[in-house]
Amino acid sequence: MIGYFPTPYEDELYYSIIARYHIHVGNLSRKHTNKELFGKKVNINLELPMGLAHLVSQINIFSKEFTKEYFINQHTVIPFVKPFKSEEWNEKIYKSDFKNLYIFLFSYSKYNVKNKKYFYYCAECLKEQLKSNGEGFWNRIHQIPGIFVCTRHKTPLLEYSLKISEMGFINYLIPTIEDIREPLRSYSEELMKYLIDLAEDVEYIIRMNYKSFSEEYYISKYVDLLGKKGFAYPIKKRREYLQKLIIEYYPTDFLELLDSFFKISDKFSWVPSLINIEENRSLHPIRHLLLMRLLSGSAKNYFEKENSFKPFGEGPWVCMNPFCKNYLKENIKNVNVRVNNSDRKIQGIIKVSAKYYTPSNNCRVL
Ligand SMILES: [Zn+2]
Repeated sequence: MIGYFPTPYEDELYYSIIARYHIHVGNLSRKHTNKELFGKKVNINLELPMGLAHLVSQINIFSKEFTKEYFINQHTVIPFVKPFKSEEWNEKIYKSDFKNLYIFLFSYSKYNVKNKKYFYYCAECLKEQLKSNGEGFWNRIHQIPGIFVCTRHKTPLLEYSLKISEMGFINYLIPTIEDIREPLRSYSEELMKYLIDLAEDVEYIIRMNYKSFSEEYYISKYVDLLGKKGFAYPIKKRREYLQKLIIEYYPTDFLELLDSFFKISDKFSWVPSLINIEENRSLHPIRHLLLMRLLSGSAKNYFEKENSFKPFGEGPWVCMNPFCKNYLKENIKNVNVRVNNSDRKIQGIIKVSAKYYTPSNNCRVL
């Protein structure tokens, strides 16, 4: 039984809470901390809350809020990933005790957005933390691949001096006053704007704590939105249209920073996966966000606004079938959007009154 556990800060990474416990109780070795909090040796994983089930059983006497769901939802980057994963994946994550789990939240493929090699932090946030709390902490959002700026201070994030791979072998660490320095990187005004937009979209996803959405949900919405821009058809041109839209919308240095640049002629870029049911789940969430902002203006708009593709505008429409009793009346309420097999153009199919049905009664809407 332990007699103390620190109160987590908003958006504090799970690792950081453990690190503050380690420092507050004055443990000399991380092994002591692991034994006290997790009951045995755990391999600290910076993406997943290892040892969480045991930890919760140890600390729920301090607060009813301390549950597995609380730590997963409020103190890990899992809420950023889970809307893009399957329901089964989500169930597995929440049921897991994170003891010997070997799950990578983000792909390690060289073709994907690269994982961060260092912890990232904002020097301005750190100054504020030291002033108000007397200590610093690691912010979970700053650790997400593709996040290079602080949306609060509109400044570039800094890399910590040690590699994450080295930190697993030493005592728990939090950023201190010595880590306050000028960022080594600077970004152009234009690049900053795109980086801040992206970071705000990531924050939105984290705050909403969405559950899993189906691949069909993403693909049909992308196609609807493409349709609104006039790029959904013909289907065989979609890949080309999408690549062109992305390359023309985003600056090259922004896409390069996100390991997502491709040439317009590239037939094997990551872009077709956005609308491919077999590959949609394997896409990095950052790449979904790139398309969402391009098509909807922001991730919030994408998820919250109705984006149905309406190539014929709002109904009801006038019936143009002279054999129908409603000929020339505004009586058509539903239109089924299809692609004509011969010319690959968009076609609206309606059904007229059964009383007057003939094989030719499927007709185009004006
Ligand atoms: Zn900041």
